Amino acid sequence: CGIVGYIGNEDAKEILLKGLEKLEYRGYDSAGIALAAEEGIQVFKEKGRIAALREVVDGNAMSTVGIGHTRWATHGEPSRLNAHPHQSKTSRFTLVHNGVIENYEQLQREFLIDTKPASDTDTEIVVLLIEHFVAEGKSVEEAFSHTLSLLKGSYAIALLDGENEDIIYVGKSKSPLLIGVGDGVNVIASDAMAMLQVTKKFLEIMDEEYVILTREKAVIKTLNGVVMMREPFTAEYDA
Ligand code: GLU
Repeated sequence: CGIVGYIGNEDAKEILLKGLEKLEYRGYDSAGIALAAEEGIQVFKEKGRIAALREVVDGNAMSTVGIGHTRWATHGEPSRLNAHPHQSKTSRFTLVHNGVIENYEQLQREFLIDTKPASDTDTEIVVLLIEHFVAEGKSVEEAFSHTLSLLKGSYAIALLDGENEDIIYVGKSKSPLLIGVGDGVNVIASDAMAMLQVTKKFLEIMDEEYVILTREKAVIKTLNGVVMMREPFTAEYDA
């Protein structure tokens, strides 16, 4: 299982699909991608191999921003419905997650009592919570970091906001996650291998940090809002 993300100027779908293929060795039962464009976010997902996902991705979908996921089911059977990305009720927010949210049932009872999830996953609760806090008046960044601070368990998360397709929100705790940095392009990967096609320079993200990722910048903050400065390392493999 793994996640990938891309924000740059090239065809995101091809880079994401190639990235997911590089993560195949980690094992998975389903896969999906979300592509952000001015018209909104398009989600493609399928049970089974990346080859099966490739068949359902619209070859004409043009986007330079997206996120992708290979799933190793922990909550909810392997199926198209339970595959990531998951979307909020209004479809404004779209999210991928690796790991396990141990307290998702408590969070659901506490904040989402009137919301019926569409899937059987722990993950969907996270994207529903983000929308819930935005509806209460928080900014997207506040809603994202606040939601992360409520989670118990492990996560590598990437979030798209359909109302601002020039940002990817990224969070990590106890699941692997790196940010790859380039010139006018930044990427997300569980394993550097997935994104050597784009860059060899990576930033390590620590537990309970989140990242505001744009084409030009990766701003790393702790969940308490402290900005962290970090130098990239160079991955020493062949692409
Ligand atoms: N717990 C999540 C699920 O079952 C994510 C699993 C994963 O890491 O792929 O959907």
